[in-house]
Amino acid sequence: MKVLLIGSGGREHALAWALAASPLLQRLYAAPGNAGIAEVAECVDLNVGDHEAVTAFCREQGIELVVVGPEAPLVAGLVDHLEAAGVRAFGPSRLAAQLEGSKAFTKGICDRHGIPTARYGRFSDAAEATAYLDRVGLPCVVKADGLAAGKGVIIAETRGEAESAIASLLEISDEIVIEEFLTGEEASFFCVSDGETVVPLATAQDHKRAFDGDTGPNTGGMGAYSPAPVLTPELCERVLKEIVEPTIRGMAAEGMPFRGILYAGLMIDESGPKLLEYNTRFGDPEAQALMMRLKDDLLLIILAALDRTLDRISIRWRDEVALTVVMAMRGYPGAYDTGSEIRGLDEAGEDQDVMIFHAATERTPDGRLVATGGRVLGVTALGKTVEEARSRAYAAIDRIDWPEGYCRRDIGWRALARLVD
Ligand code: ATP
Repeated sequence: MKVLLIGSGGREHALAWALAASPLLQRLYAAPGNAGIAEVAECVDLNVGDHEAVTAFCREQGIELVVVGPEAPLVAGLVDHLEAAGVRAFGPSRLAAQLEGSKAFTKGICDRHGIPTARYGRFSDAAEATAYLDRVGLPCVVKADGLAAGKGVIIAETRGEAESAIASLLEISDEIVIEEFLTGEEASFFCVSDGETVVPLATAQDHKRAFDGDTGPNTGGMGAYSPAPVLTPELCERVLKEIVEPTIRGMAAEGMPFRGILYAGLMIDESGPKLLEYNTRFGDPEAQALMMRLKDDLLLIILAALDRTLDRISIRWRDEVALTVVMAMRGYPGAYDTGSEIRGLDEAGEDQDVMIFHAATERTPDGRLVATGGRVLGVTALGKTVEEARSRAYAAIDRIDWPEGYCRRDIGWRALARLVD
């Protein structure tokens, strides 16, 4: 089978690596890809925002399946466009991707289908939003409705902060959501659905802040591990029954069946799980950890979701922990220089239980590997325990020669703290 993977990050390198292991795969293309992905796929210079161009490429090359990694093409309707042209594509339709693309939409789904989430109000008028602050209390969370690349959520401790959050987010978004502040431990729950059946995949926890001890600015994610110890089997069952299944049923009943990867961002406290947000694709870097733990053929799972036969397959995971440490350019998530050379990846990746996924790299014509973006590598290791996976990942990192890069040294701290408790 000829497959085209859309995207260029660490998540897509992990997906490409898993797809490349499938005996069903004949040829893998990636658009646009990166230097790591190029080791298992043919990278093509396609503008993925140009749906006509993607469709034309698929026709020319006889692509039988398109797998979409990131959210933006899903929200823009790439899957609808491909399917209308007769090309199979894995990922939700534009309407179903509203679960990620619109926070107000997801809150509406929660209301209509009894899904536990933070109390909220939605507003397009600053005065009405400000009046709501008296009802929701402080701290509160102010969110832009649409995709905002991680910059659309402000946690306001004081009334002054809340008022300026309302003003600044109404400038970038016609609508905002104001939510009650939830406390507890955050975790992610991944599943796959064919529109009717939903099968849980695995759990994970990420690290959003740039620096050790969860300090510094928010980033796309500086590390992750799977599974998340906070999500016990009992809690996973509750997430499935109370959150994910009602969502899948609700989306189908409302004429927008959800087919693809559903990633629930959860807050867990003594009362149980509550939904913070949905993403409609794998997380990055969580995908790197998940793909290391997946025992079965990713391509078969995707085909089962497209054929609506998910109820007939079982998906097996390694019992080991997988842990990913992201290496980023110094300066990220602020301004940084690109083009620095990275050396030593072959030696660093010698351990069989380590995979170095590329997130933003390029090969120069003379064969050097250079960094091209903020988050550059996802060093991922398996271990019997979090501790073992973590020390393997850091041992690999210590062999990488890249003075312009940095990483957090405390990935996994939450899981380790739980063991000590
Ligand atoms: P992401 O980058 O995770 O996709 P996003 O911009 O889509 O983020 P959310 O996930 O809704 O936005 O919020 C980002 C973060 O803000 C959450 O991971 C969580 O830490 C915090 N947060 C969001 N809503 C709440 C809430 N109601 N109570 C407490 N914290 C919250």
